[in-house]
Amino acid sequence: MRLTQKKIEEIMLSILGEEGLPLVKELSGKQHVSEFELADKLKKDIKIVRKMLYLLYNHNLVSFIRKKDKIKGWYIYYWTLQSESIKFSYIKRKKELLAKLQQRLEEESKELFFTCPNRCVRLNFDQAMDFEFHCPECGELLSQENNAERVETLRKKIAEIEAELEEFMEKRKARKAVSKARKKEVKTRKRDKQRKTATKKTAKAVKKSVKKKK
Ligand SMILES: [Zn+2]
Repeated sequence: MRLTQKKIEEIMLSILGEEGLPLVKELSGKQHVSEFELADKLKKDIKIVRKMLYLLYNHNLVSFIRKKDKIKGWYIYYWTLQSESIKFSYIKRKKELLAKLQQRLEEESKELFFTCPNRCVRLNFDQAMDFEFHCPECGELLSQENNAERVETLRKKIAEIEAELEEFMEKRKARKAVSKARKKEVKTRKRDKQRKTATKKTAKAVKKSVKKKK
């Protein structure tokens, strides 16, 4: 999965709210951004900016380094977005959403639902029975709902998320395979080098012993 700007924003917004969007935009694609610079650019009080940064920090979405300002004697914090954690958090949220949708699909598939013709309520069989199949709001007779469309929408959403997660897993697998192959190559090279040195040493030792024998 490529972590698009849109996805980053989606995650950040869920934590900071709309208000945090300019901050995220200032941080994205940069490293070690001074919090004073951020406050300046956002035209916001440093305290507000810090509050947002700490919130992101609590979710492992940013990291910081601090440096002492030699003249003023206080520490300045420099912030960086943690794109790996953002990706992780995005996947986690998608998985949670998937589980929720799957549960809803199960309910929709196995239960019967009843609705009021005036659209006041939607009840499952047990609830409808409690009200003797009459609307608790307006008293109209409830009718069984055809939820085929609802089920279809849920199925589509689930398939979409599953495909996205699968793509992500495939890419991760591919990345892991590449890094494994690289590690193996380094190891082989090291071993070859060691062997060569060992062979050279043996050759020298043999030469020496041959000389001695002479
Ligand atoms: Zn009603």
